[in-house]
Amino acid sequence: MIIVQNYINGKFESIDSTIEDVNPATGEVIAQIPKSGSLEVENAVVAADSARKSWSDLSLEKRTIWLDKIADVLESKSEEIASLESLDTGKPISLARAVDASRSVANFRFFAEFARDYKSEKFEMDDAINHVILKPVGIAGLITPWNLPLYLLSWKIAPAIVMGNTVVAKPSELTPLTANLLAEVIHEVGLPAGVVNIVHGLGSEAGQSIVEHPKVNLISFTGGTMTGRKVAETASPMFKKLSLELGGKNATIVLDDTNLDDAIPGIARAGFLNQGQVCLCGSRILVSEKIWDEFIDKFVTFVKGMKVGDPSSEDSDLGALVSFAHRDKVESYIHLAQREGGEILCGGKSPKLSSPFDKGAFLEPTIVSNLSHMSRTATEEIFGPVVTLHSFKTEDEAIEMANCTDYGLAGSVWTGDTQRGARIAERLETGMVWVNTWLHRDLRVPFGGIKDSGVGREGGRWSLGFFSEAINICVKES
Ligand code: NAD
Repeated sequence: MIIVQNYINGKFESIDSTIEDVNPATGEVIAQIPKSGSLEVENAVVAADSARKSWSDLSLEKRTIWLDKIADVLESKSEEIASLESLDTGKPISLARAVDASRSVANFRFFAEFARDYKSEKFEMDDAINHVILKPVGIAGLITPWNLPLYLLSWKIAPAIVMGNTVVAKPSELTPLTANLLAEVIHEVGLPAGVVNIVHGLGSEAGQSIVEHPKVNLISFTGGTMTGRKVAETASPMFKKLSLELGGKNATIVLDDTNLDDAIPGIARAGFLNQGQVCLCGSRILVSEKIWDEFIDKFVTFVKGMKVGDPSSEDSDLGALVSFAHRDKVESYIHLAQREGGEILCGGKSPKLSSPFDKGAFLEPTIVSNLSHMSRTATEEIFGPVVTLHSFKTEDEAIEMANCTDYGLAGSVWTGDTQRGARIAERLETGMVWVNTWLHRDLRVPFGGIKDSGVGREGGRWSLGFFSEAINICVKES
């Protein structure tokens, strides 16, 4: 049993009230975490406030060295990150290694290097020069979800502290283990006390207390759209800087000129990576009617071949969903799909696994056809291993179908003609589009959604801008 503590002002602290953390692949309780509330958040904010001045007085160059130190120690613990992440989330170990562990290290390295290279802007007038400088915002409240726990937490902590802010972070109560590991790493490298504080607990208690706290100047939130709305309702009247990275219902458009043998592994990856629990997953697959039969035949065969099982096994393609409650929610959408007239082409139920995984929150990758593209199943975020298939006649129809939901996070277009793909990509109402690939990330580019998928952009210079106040100093020649 792992005992997770809060990390406040450079110290690990327990509280009496705790929450159980469950391994969703077996149902076993693996950790106890603090059920923090406003008192612990207050202590963390006091610590972050005391550390503010000396941290922001350090040069940016010196702060980047701290990021490098954190990255070095994290990297030496890559295998531990991967196994904790797999245990906590139920995701396959191979995915936890390739994506979670490596990106968490890369986030610290990237923001150290990117901030070092960042050139402040200058605008010359005939008789004056404008110098734009980036100042820290103050105390950053960082709230993260369970699907990519350390990956998303490090994506926020690294730019927040490199720009001179101090941090109060609350990881998801479902997946606290790697945030705890990060606290241990931060402690080990000796980052000044109070620069990063990690408070565990429920969203409605610890999370809400961070958002409400008058001394927290900025909120960076990643999570569901409903929660994001609540966060915005609390933070906006207080004029906090706000970034909301929310849900998605992303379209995958497959044009008639696509080489399906090449594309199908990528389309299946987009649908089912991390059991379909990536905000960017392509869960609505729109296929040209000219290749519909061939697509269904090849796609269903491919997906039926995906192995669901023991997350620690190298050959599992899918592990468990994050919790039993979440599996119930995803299953309820499979039942809804059937009530809406959908035909289940494969999956739709829990796989038969041997002990101890027979007690886990597993679900087979599921393909549903025969639904209207406007049905609830095809327009609401399910966030699980369920994709719906829809056929289209023309490019215009594909674009209209892709743009029909309230979400606007991401999409992908698959084609033999990249110019045609890029032309369609420009007409999609989303923050990000991939052509002939998916989740291919350059950390310098803007990341974020439009419509109900969020507000603001993170990544590269957008993160440096969000985690700072741009101040203009106009100097007139005397
Ligand atoms: P969630 O909204 O339930 O929780 C996210 C975080 O917010 C958790 O730490 C939770 O404890 C906290 N929280 C809950 N209520 C709160 C409140 N009132 N005030 C402050 N914090 C509160 O989301 P989840 O179920 O953990 O994650 C899944 C969702 O996240 C999906 O909708 C997915 O699309 C989205 N997501 C989006 C992105 C993106 O970059 N756009 C990335 C990953 C996940």
